Amino acid sequence: NPPPTLLHPEKWCRGFNHFISQCLIKDFEKRPSVTHLLEHPFIKQVHGKDMSLQKQLAELIQEQQQLGSIAKTRRPYHVDRADKYSLDDDLVNLEVLNEDTIIQQLQKRYADLQIYTYVGDILIALNPFQNLSIYSPQFSRLYHGVKRSSNPPHIFASADAAYQSMVTFSKDQCIIISGESGAGKTESAHLIVQHLTFLGKANNRALREKILQVNPLVEAFGNACTAINDNSSRFGKYLEMMFTPTGAVMGAKISEYLLEKSRVVKQAVGEKNFHIFYYIYAGLYHQKKLSEYRLPDKKPPRYIDNETGRVMHDIVTKDSYGRQFEAIQHCFRIIGFTDEEVYSVYRILTGILNTGNIEFAAISSQHQTDKSEVPNPEALDNAAALLSIGSEELQEALTSHCVVTRGETIIRTNTVDKAADVRDAMSKALYSRLFSWIVNRINTLLQPDKNICAENGMNVGILDIFGFENFTRNSFEQLCINIANEQIQFYFNQHIFALEQMEYQSEGIDATAVEYEDNRPLLDMFLQKPMGLLSLLDEESRFPQATDLTLVDKFEDNLRCKYFWRPKGVELSFGIQHYAGKVLYDASAFLEKNRDTLPADVVVVLRTSENKLLQQLFSSPLTKTGIPAFMDKVGWSAVDTMEVMRHPEETTNMKRQTMASYFRYSLMDLLSKMVVGQPHFIRCIKPNDDREALMFSHERVLLQLRYTGILETVKIRQKGYSHRILFEEFVKRYYYLAFKAHETPLGSRENCLAILEKSKLDNWILGKTKVFLKYYHIEQLNLFLREVI
Ligand code: ADP
Ligand code: MG
Repeated sequence: NPPPTLLHPEKWCRGFNHFISQCLIKDFEKRPSVTHLLEHPFIKQVHGKDMSLQKQLAELIQEQQQLGSIAKTRRPYHVDRADKYSLDDDLVNLEVLNEDTIIQQLQKRYADLQIYTYVGDILIALNPFQNLSIYSPQFSRLYHGVKRSSNPPHIFASADAAYQSMVTFSKDQCIIISGESGAGKTESAHLIVQHLTFLGKANNRALREKILQVNPLVEAFGNACTAINDNSSRFGKYLEMMFTPTGAVMGAKISEYLLEKSRVVKQAVGEKNFHIFYYIYAGLYHQKKLSEYRLPDKKPPRYIDNETGRVMHDIVTKDSYGRQFEAIQHCFRIIGFTDEEVYSVYRILTGILNTGNIEFAAISSQHQTDKSEVPNPEALDNAAALLSIGSEELQEALTSHCVVTRGETIIRTNTVDKAADVRDAMSKALYSRLFSWIVNRINTLLQPDKNICAENGMNVGILDIFGFENFTRNSFEQLCINIANEQIQFYFNQHIFALEQMEYQSEGIDATAVEYEDNRPLLDMFLQKPMGLLSLLDEESRFPQATDLTLVDKFEDNLRCKYFWRPKGVELSFGIQHYAGKVLYDASAFLEKNRDTLPADVVVVLRTSENKLLQQLFSSPLTKTGIPAFMDKVGWSAVDTMEVMRHPEETTNMKRQTMASYFRYSLMDLLSKMVVGQPHFIRCIKPNDDREALMFSHERVLLQLRYTGILETVKIRQKGYSHRILFEEFVKRYYYLAFKAHETPLGSRENCLAILEKSKLDNWILGKTKVFLKYYHIEQLNLFLREVI
């Protein structure tokens, strides 16, 4: 017998992390040649020219070769899965299941840079806070249509599972990425798009290139630096990648939700505006084109000068912003925007920056104390010039407004504060409409070619929303973000727990119920009509005399439940017990933010713009239509997944009114898109708050595991059956395994039984109308099928 040390590939793979070792072993088993192994890209990539390591490796391998072959060190997993699967890869294999064992397992893996772990078909991803060399094309090839257990857990495996499921069942898929801000959702979404683009090998290279540019472009406009994350998504994004029936990429479509537009005009201490503003300012600075866009070169415009002096210093000394600007220009070009369009976008962006510099001062005469004027007319002229509108008209729209009373139009003047509000409202409207336009334009440029069988297309949707947030000061934006996360958690619960348990009951299967934290009562508290928090907010917003204080009073009087409380001594504050923790909100400016008014006078002026794009942005009221009709039926309570499934196509029109109603509409719209697909869940976890590599905060991880219900999820995945397929569908799909190709067996219970017995799986159950399978059965069945066919 060989000495035990040599039996461990970990030994000869010393110096590589576990992940790479496993890939090397796999490769070596296929081709046991030392020279071949030394040529392996990972060895070169990871250790470059470190010859001593390569020599040491070669010696060890030779020793092993002499001993016969590389020993199998893996323990068997299931009788029929005795392969290279490590039991540690899946929390479902834990023999003792509790919070401690789960966290120990994750901690151990994290220390070994194994950031991914399965819980059955769900993927847990710990943020590594460092670049790992596990996303190269070699890895894409490794995770292509193979059994999941052949390789260590990986985000590519989840993307592959969704892709294979789409192709096999001809069904839309939906990948839901959740986790708190900075946990790694957006990075995960990129990696999924990268791998899906690889899998959906289109002959059309240009299209693939375009799809890969979408995220960087949209994120330049929709992401910003916050206290938690330097590249924080400030909008929700649902990206659908469309495929032909044979699985080739044919197009893509993005839906954007709730851009945090207040950021355009104001950012909290230590935070920044949307990336694109810095990119464009720095780009123009380095290209010496600032004067062309009427921007000052000594001091950045007010909207991007939150930390006085810092931005200018960064721009002058570092060129990274400038390079990003070039990258964005490249994205625009590759995706197919015309030069004219891009130029118009730049003019609007710099128009917004100039608008922010317009100041107001009070004109105090004896009769009029509430009138304002612009003390720096050059700022006004600059803004007007870039927006291609008249400077006088702009001034008028900002400093006065028309009121129609009894058929007569009266012009009223604006106070200094009011004028500043109107200016900021204009900037926000310009930016958010520009953002929507860019997204729509991308969708047009990436829509599938009508000639390639668009009608039978399928898609994989990828949801990346802003994560749960709890800052020192939390405002209306955080409330919306957190309600959205509450809804995503509810969707997860419904899928993983509620739907599954309902089916066991109706199919007469005795499966022990798993208790889980149901956040429905809390969602109802937010969304119900007429007494939910958002409805109360809308109601209060309709009273001109209402203040933020009367709003909080109203909340307190009406929301009598354990999730809401009002701390003593802080007037404008209220607290919510979210699924992910307690958050204190500051209600100042809630009413104003919810009313979200853009005076008609401003719209009228902007419509006169000679910039065609800008004119288009304001030519029609940007209302979104297509609100699902079931919302009224269910009384606006928590968006019930089952309800959405029952009425997927029903829609009615809705005028956009307040932010709260628009927000509610967006949530419904998002959910109605998501529920048509088969869901795949990815849970991102932030191992520490300091963004440090290899640091694992027991406390922080435990908190996240708790509120996302991971322990319960592991339990239900151990006990439950995540795939429930109708007899008929099952026979149709797998009859090859037990019948002849020309036969057409009935979709009966007996025939299902025949197939299952023939395929020698264990642990399945037959219900009254459905076959109940464990998450790993599908993969096995598909593999058998491939062997038979
Ligand atoms: P979220 O979208 O959840 O707020 P991000 O995806 O923006 O979080 O991730 C925050 C930061 O964490 C990223 O900017 C990156 O530095 C790091 N990060 C996240 N995932 C990975 C990964 N897989 N590899 C390397 N770094 C990562
Ligand atoms: Mg993000």
